[in-house]
Amino acid sequence: MAINFNSPTYNDDTIANILDALNGRHVSGDGKYTKLVHSWFQNNMGVASALLVHSGTAALELAAVLASLHPGDEVIMPSYTFCSTANAFVMAGAVPVFVDIRADTLNIDENLIESAITPKTRAIVPVHYAGVACEMDKIMDIARRHNLLVIEDAAQAFDSSYRGQKLGTIGDMGCFSFHETKNIMSGEGGLFVTNNPAYAERAEIVREKGTNRSKFFRGQVDKYTWVDKGSSYLPSDIIAAYLYSILNVAPDIQARRKEIWNKYNDAFAEFETRGIIRRPIIPDECTNNAHMFYVLFNDLDTRTRFIAHMRAHEIGTPFHYIPLHSAPAGMSYCRTGSDMSVTNRVSDTLVRLPLYYDMSDTDVQRVIDTACEFLQGL
Ligand SMILES: *Cc1c(COP(=O)(O)O)cnc(C)c1O
Repeated sequence: MAINFNSPTYNDDTIANILDALNGRHVSGDGKYTKLVHSWFQNNMGVASALLVHSGTAALELAAVLASLHPGDEVIMPSYTFCSTANAFVMAGAVPVFVDIRADTLNIDENLIESAITPKTRAIVPVHYAGVACEMDKIMDIARRHNLLVIEDAAQAFDSSYRGQKLGTIGDMGCFSFHETKNIMSGEGGLFVTNNPAYAERAEIVREKGTNRSKFFRGQVDKYTWVDKGSSYLPSDIIAAYLYSILNVAPDIQARRKEIWNKYNDAFAEFETRGIIRRPIIPDECTNNAHMFYVLFNDLDTRTRFIAHMRAHEIGTPFHYIPLHSAPAGMSYCRTGSDMSVTNRVSDTLVRLPLYYDMSDTDVQRVIDTACEFLQGL
């Protein structure tokens, strides 16, 4: 049997919740389950405003609208990320400016940010790669001194923190994804969070096609109308019903993912000692939410042979991002603000191992044994 890189999960409550939403005759957005999801995040993340949206991409687009960008404004971000991090700002008329990543966490190198700032810079978008925090103290300090917004791409960072603060709640706004490849999933899905009351108020409007419909439903205005820019970013309550069933088993999911992550980390330690690979590095001030287990090889050729070896044994071990600065759209719409040598090297040498909640111990062991067979031959 093949072992895929990822496999989505659901439980008995998933079906029960969806049927309940259907029988309640409210399947459009902002029904009972969307409200339950909003409260869950407000309570569990200690954040003032949490709004369910249809994807992590939508959360980033919403944040880009709230940033009130003008054509040519610049937004600093890593190149080693998913295209949506940049796309959301390109669609808002801004120019993403890429800086290189740190060799240890593979997060934006905070020491390269200041030299990429120009009079047009408006925001910094730190991406918490693999759920491990960027160096937020330094980033927040730079943002304060230069009067820049910080929009956290916390798509992979559910349940992770930096010096005790939950990721996504440190900057001005935070964006999460519930795509089926993330720790907490609803097929597609996302969340926008903020502690700033002005952004919270405007986010509610932008998410509802630029209308003040949410205020109308709360009885705060006597009719609703088009008041701002906006789009339809809210998902059906059926998605919220799915998501709520997964949130309720979040501690189990996190515990199991960490267990698998630790098995991989222990099994490959000896190969790191021998200098063949390097395992993820989690700085002391960061937590590990076990979103991803990756290894870095020393060169592209070894990685290519590893992926082929695993594929021959029907195990999916994909590489990750093609740097955005070298992608066709990245070259048209963005510019680079630093040397990109770490990004280029990591893009060539990183590989991800299968890691999902329902993965059996037998399958974890098969991945380890198959990988070790290759590594021992090096
Ligand atoms: C998954 C992801 C996104 C996009 O989320 P979707 O829900 O797929 O739109 C954005 N940024 C990063 C870093 C991601 O990992």
